[in-house]
Amino acid sequence: MKNFAYARAENVGSAIQSITQLQNAKFLGGGTNLVDLMRENIEQPDHLVDLTALPLAQVEELSDGGMSIGALVTNSHLAAHPLIRARYPVLSEAILHGASGQIRNMATTGGNLMQRTRCYYFYDTHARCNKRAPGTGCDALEGFNRMHAILGASEACIATHPSDMCVALAALDATVQVTGANGKRAIPLVDFHRLPEDTPQTDTNLQPDELITAVELPALPCARHSRYRKVRDRASYAFALVSVAAALEVKDGTITQARLALGGVAHKPWRAFAAEKILVGAPAGEDTFKAAAAEELKVARGYQHNAFKIELARRTMMSVLTTLAHEGGAR
Ligand SMILES: Cc1cc2nc3c(=O)[nH]c(=O)nc-3n(C[C@H](O)[C@H](O)[C@H](O)COP(=O)(O)OP(=O)(O)OC[C@H]3O[C@@H](n4cnc5c(N)ncnc54)[C@H](O)[C@@H]3O)c2cc1C
Repeated sequence: MKNFAYARAENVGSAIQSITQLQNAKFLGGGTNLVDLMRENIEQPDHLVDLTALPLAQVEELSDGGMSIGALVTNSHLAAHPLIRARYPVLSEAILHGASGQIRNMATTGGNLMQRTRCYYFYDTHARCNKRAPGTGCDALEGFNRMHAILGASEACIATHPSDMCVALAALDATVQVTGANGKRAIPLVDFHRLPEDTPQTDTNLQPDELITAVELPALPCARHSRYRKVRDRASYAFALVSVAAALEVKDGTITQARLALGGVAHKPWRAFAAEKILVGAPAGEDTFKAAAAEELKVARGYQHNAFKIELARRTMMSVLTTLAHEGGAR
């Protein structure tokens, strides 16, 4: 690992000042992704700005019934929070499907949003990877691409976003609160991560001088009836081949509210807007779920080793929606 300088930020202002003034600096949250990447010489910052002393570790109820999750709230704390478990069970379930207890105790909300892909070729410094070394090519295109994208990929990159938590946040209409040298702004979670296009080295729309301070969830009654399902090669400690986060409200047999997002299928958490359009106003049953899944996956494209994911995504969506409908819609 390359040598680096370390500084502990005391407040949000000093963190932003450091990231703006220091050359090649990175924020440090729990360190569970960044430190691994530094050990592998994939990330080589000259300075680390440690965020862990900032007062951003609270989960708070907002006056409109929504919730604010500080950027330093750990994954464990968030998953166990009683209001999150009651009002947004899909979020709690998604977090608990990720990593391990020890990692979730360290991993922060901000770091989870910013974690980098698990594409094998990104981690292999001898491989061609446009995300790690722009302009070199993409060995995943013709390589072992079992875990790779089926939606929104480009000829430059077919990597997927690895987060489980972010899939639930995409379904829940979350917004990311950020502060930078030019002030504060809110970015809808669905616009926070990017599709690769021809610049896959840029994962998100966060500017280099911006700090994530919180993630906000709106009051969303249908989210009380929500679920996360993750399909993976091992029962634990593995990233998603396909995951589905969904919330459903059913009244008199008709779907009145639907939120649906997919993980493990794209460079960003994939909000299934096309499927939602089919679901809302339709009868809560197999024909509707089939039509919704088919509509969302119309644009899916498989590669040599991952074409199975298209059918897997269809079946997982059908299964989660059927479970939610059988449970009776929003409680
Ligand atoms: C073995 C292993 C298995 C895993 N399995 C899963 C899994 O199945 N599902 C899953 O979802 N995740 C999984 N993870 C990933 C884990 O969830 C992430 O490593 C973790 O969420 C990152 O959080 P962190 O606080 O440690 O981030 P760090 O490692 O500290 O930082 C990651 C990135 O975020 C940036 N950053 C951190 N905080 C902020 C902020 N407030 N504002 C702006 N930038 C910031 C850092 O600069 C860095 O670039 C796994 C990790 C490991 C090591």
